[in-house]
Amino acid sequence: MKGSQTHFNKAMKEDIYLSQYFQLEEFTRSETAERLGIDNSIKTNQSHSSLGGRWLSQLSIINSLCALCEAILEPLRGAYGKAIHISSGYRCLQLNRAIGSKDTSQHIKGEACDISQGLRSENLKLFRLIQDLGLPFDQLIWEGGGRWIHVSHKANGHNRGQILYLFSIINYQLL
Ligand SMILES: [Zn+2]
Repeated sequence: MKGSQTHFNKAMKEDIYLSQYFQLEEFTRSETAERLGIDNSIKTNQSHSSLGGRWLSQLSIINSLCALCEAILEPLRGAYGKAIHISSGYRCLQLNRAIGSKDTSQHIKGEACDISQGLRSENLKLFRLIQDLGLPFDQLIWEGGGRWIHVSHKANGHNRGQILYLFSIINYQLL
C-alpha cells in the first residue's frame, strides 16, 4: 500500500496538467515545506475531526483542484491575458499547521489557492476581475493588505460568493 502510494505520488510529480494552463506542481510546491522538510505531495488520510472526520482521498483533492482551475483560474487567466502565479495551493495538514493556519482551511481540501503577482496593483486587477467575471467563488479574500489574494471554490456544494478584506500583516497566511 505504502509502495503504491509512493509510486502514485512520484507519477503525480511529473508535469501533470489539471487544466489547460495549470499544472499540479504549481499547487503542491512550497518553499516553507522545503525549508521544514515537509512532504507536501498529495496524500490520503488528510481527514481531521475539525473537517467532520471526512476521509479525503488523493483523487477527491485532485478533483477539487481541477474544479478550482476550471471554474476560477482558467477563465481568470483568459481575461487577464497573462500567467497567474500561485503562491500557495494545496497544503497537507502538517504544512498548514506549520504556517499557523487553521485545520478548517480550504487549502487542505484542494479547494483554495493564494495568488500573488508580486505587485499589489496586479493583485487588485485579479481581485476585481474575479468579481466582474461573475466567477463562482466560495471565498475571495484580499489578504495581507493585498500582498496576495485567496480564492476558493467548492466542486460540490454551495459557493457563497463571500468577499473579505484582511489588511493586517499579522494575519499572514491565516486563511
Ligand atoms: Zn489562502
